[in-house]
Amino acid sequence: MSRLQPARGTADILPNNMAKHRLVIEAARTAASRYGFQEMATPIFEFSEVFSRPLGETSDIVTKENYSFTDRGGEMLTLRPENTAGVVRAVISGGLTQNLPLKYFYAGPMFRYERPQKGRLRQFHQVGIEYLGPDHSLADAEIIACGARLLAALGVLDDCVLHINSLGDGESRAAYRSALINYLEGFGDKLSEDSKTRLKVNPLRILDSKDIGDRSILRDAPQLQDYLNDGSKTHFATLVAALDAAGVSWVFDPLLVRGLDYYCHTAFEFVTNALGAQGTVLGGGRYDGLSEMLGGPKVSGVGWAAGVERLAMLVGEAVPATPKVAIVTADDTAQQAAFGLAEALRDAGIDIDLPTGGSMSKKLKKADKAGIRLVVIMGSDELAKNIVLLRDLSDGSQQELPLDAADKSHLAVAIAKSLPAP
Ligand code: ATP
Ligand code: MG
Repeated sequence: MSRLQPARGTADILPNNMAKHRLVIEAARTAASRYGFQEMATPIFEFSEVFSRPLGETSDIVTKENYSFTDRGGEMLTLRPENTAGVVRAVISGGLTQNLPLKYFYAGPMFRYERPQKGRLRQFHQVGIEYLGPDHSLADAEIIACGARLLAALGVLDDCVLHINSLGDGESRAAYRSALINYLEGFGDKLSEDSKTRLKVNPLRILDSKDIGDRSILRDAPQLQDYLNDGSKTHFATLVAALDAAGVSWVFDPLLVRGLDYYCHTAFEFVTNALGAQGTVLGGGRYDGLSEMLGGPKVSGVGWAAGVERLAMLVGEAVPATPKVAIVTADDTAQQAAFGLAEALRDAGIDIDLPTGGSMSKKLKKADKAGIRLVVIMGSDELAKNIVLLRDLSDGSQQELPLDAADKSHLAVAIAKSLPAP
């Protein structure tokens, strides 16, 4: 560690950026709550099995992207790469499958060992919702509408296109899988190495291949939608009719299969071209088989996750909160009195900055530069007279206020009156 850098693919989030993260997370919390989702949190690490079972030993996330380690007690643990498996694990281990439907919202860090790029980190953050219980496609429509509402609240919905595909139920996918394998086997060696492996373990994921050779082979491949049975077709038709009724626009994307292996029926992504290659800001789908894969009872589920960093890059500036009031003093005696006053004003709900060290004029300059609006001046003259000066840095006007050692409420009232309404 010769240069003291954050670990590759991680980033410090300093106040300016944090203000944007908070804006995104608060908007997501509000949108989720509008639909009755309640916030919960799961641990950031789980037994490795929680992710390896449902994601499949062959998925990218498990083979290449996971952060796994053995702890001092010999347990195999994994930092969560996503939160759906953790939420479903929590529902099973908490015995909550008796209480369906459940609607959960979460926000927090996720970890994937990826090649870091703009909008692609090794520790990143997601907000997400999971709707557990219903297998009705109106649940799919509801979570998608919630995602659209979040993007609209952030002012970025118009920059995004909603792509939707239907993966169908198990029966439809099995029929399609054999047709796809049949077709792809005709190309034998022409497939990329990755796709050759996938042909054996998870052929549907080949549809997601970015390889140019694979893409041209896929152009004439059989289409999943031609293999959907009637139930799967109805599920999709009901979903898009509901989206149309809600005024959420969408495009059909037959190649959208998503990275994770446990989806059925609905798969969707909101994609923008404002972020270069990392264009997917929010994605999700239905995962009716997940609970059973984890060893629980059958529990239908549908949900999405959105990348906080990617959304934060799309939103305009957000201003971090700074106290609007500082107390400045000339010497240590005044500083002691100021410390007491600062606490009393904080009790009254006012954010106070109390700089230490430096001359009075230096403190005033710094306060002005930090965007602080009001300063309470407590010099030795003022203390001797038992007063303070309340100066408005925006126009230099000031007033004298009595400093009553026992009761500082009049000061709090005067300051509150001088502050612009929030
Ligand atoms: P991508 O195709 O960009 O790798 P993904 O399909 O792996 O995305 P999901 O697992 O669906 O992504 O995660 C949901 C969202 O989380 C993504 O749409 C994206 O906004 C965000 N996300 C995923 N991986 C990262 C990452 N490494 N860094 C930052 N954000 C990420
Ligand atoms: Mg990925």
